[in-house]
Amino acid sequence: MARYTGPVCRLCRREGTKLFLKGDRCMSGKCAIERRNTRPGQHGQARSRKPSGYALQLREKQKVRRTYGVLERQFKRYYEEAARRPGKTSENLLQLLEMRLDTVVYRLGFGDSRAQARQLVTHGHFQVNGRKSDIPSMILKPGTEVAVRENSRGGEYFKTRALMLAEKGVPPWLKLNPDTLSGRILALPTRQELELPFDEALVVEYYQR
Ligand code: SF4
Repeated sequence: MARYTGPVCRLCRREGTKLFLKGDRCMSGKCAIERRNTRPGQHGQARSRKPSGYALQLREKQKVRRTYGVLERQFKRYYEEAARRPGKTSENLLQLLEMRLDTVVYRLGFGDSRAQARQLVTHGHFQVNGRKSDIPSMILKPGTEVAVRENSRGGEYFKTRALMLAEKGVPPWLKLNPDTLSGRILALPTRQELELPFDEALVVEYYQR
């Protein structure tokens, strides 16, 4: 599936906030938002008008979508699935996004960013419940085991990663075993656990308008 391949810091500047799309760089002084927090383009520095309700909803939707690196059509499908599920649509939506294989790989610490995790998945380095899977958008369930494939474990990248992972914590809904380069989903994350700076209710309002 197609994906955005342009400069990602531009996306943060458009949203006026850090979306943490580049791993370690996002925490450093090199972050484009730290250095130049203006909207991209010729009129980026012009004062903007007070945003309408619709503009706020749209921007919030774009923030969530861009953070997870999902294209418009697929994101709408996630919203529709979230609305079908029992419970709060806004929470269901974030849970669905968090259960994507690339996000789980990122949260387990195998990649520094979701984009890197996605690349590792598409290059065939992972297995899901013992079977090779190279589909980043695959939605996983609690109880699923994600592991680096045996052929990939001996590579330089994963050898270095294993040392880092031993000192790294993972979110409470995941369990990591650095020795076997594998992890398990224990449960769906709750909204409080996610600690994401989104107002996902605005995203729901965007689709319900
Ligand atoms: Fe966004 Fe990270 Fe680029 Fe900063 S360095 S602008 S947080 S992608």
